[in-house]
Amino acid sequence: MNPSRHQNAPFGSILTDKMAIATYRDGAWSEAEIRVTGPLEIHPAAHALHYGSSCFEGFKAYRRADGSVHIFRMDRHVARMMQSARALVLPEPDPARLTQMVTTLVDRCRGDIPDAPGALYLRPLLFGTLPNIGAAATPSTEAVLVVLASPVWDYFAGGMKPLKILVEEHAQRCAPHLGVVKTGGNYAAAMGPTLAARKAHGVDQVLFCPGGEVQETGAANFLMIRDGELLTRSLDSSFLHGVTRDSLLVLARDLGYRVTERVFRVDEMLQWAQTGEAALSGTAAVLAGVGTLVREGVSHQVGDGSVGPETRKLREALVAIQQGEAPDRHGWLTRV
Ligand SMILES: *Cc1c(COP(=O)(O)O)cnc(C)c1O
Repeated sequence: MNPSRHQNAPFGSILTDKMAIATYRDGAWSEAEIRVTGPLEIHPAAHALHYGSSCFEGFKAYRRADGSVHIFRMDRHVARMMQSARALVLPEPDPARLTQMVTTLVDRCRGDIPDAPGALYLRPLLFGTLPNIGAAATPSTEAVLVVLASPVWDYFAGGMKPLKILVEEHAQRCAPHLGVVKTGGNYAAAMGPTLAARKAHGVDQVLFCPGGEVQETGAANFLMIRDGELLTRSLDSSFLHGVTRDSLLVLARDLGYRVTERVFRVDEMLQWAQTGEAALSGTAAVLAGVGTLVREGVSHQVGDGSVGPETRKLREALVAIQQGEAPDRHGWLTRV
């Protein structure tokens, strides 16, 4: 493929023509292979289609001017994939096998990686294929593991627009014990409330705050910055433990911010918002500034309503490491 032809394609809409695949049957994984990206034959009784036994990951590989390619925090993403598989009682791929599938695919797709700030977005996917519609309360003993690769370009090519977010204090994003699991069902669960909020309030995303406690949006973690302090929810099973979140907290400490991880409520968030900054973190955008929080139909401007300087500074610090412009002091990059 010719990656530069697709420069304006939306995130994730283009795939490379190669994927890695392995299958699990009779208690063992097959050898992984690289295949042409395309449809798989799947039985309509497959476990994942009926009972939601599927999970995925998302992370990026960056190509430098010298041609070397560096994958960001692959070990963390592989470990999280194992955790998701375990939670859904899916056959767990061996971390070394998945790592090998990813690095082999990245190596074979070198020529498809756009220049920084573009990257190759990697999407491992694991799903249960046992063809048995009676297996509602039985795990899938057969599975497919695929790794897809998608060239992505500058997420903020159109400029960094501050986001408008609805504060949702009643609906939950997902079942509380599944918050840490990166599974399609959680996205399906958040879709209805998110589309309804878009329609009713013209917001970009929904910040789920069940019972008034600030959690996260449908696909990104939430953090606030004010007076040299960074505030975000402490880890528990109710939300996804983002690798970007973790990386930003480490860098914030390096840069001298006080980092506070604790439960906090909507009222405190709105107080912080008067003079502070708010942002969403995740692999795709890294860090995206929030300009407005809408609660019960009332809009609250965050700071001056634009993407704040601290948000930009933290984002740039992380992106610099990912792209090889700043030293990798924490050993986050794997060279391929
Ligand atoms: C993937 C995801 C994130 C972000 O995680 P990163 O590891 O930073 O990409 C946050 N919340 C949810 C619900 C997610 O699925």
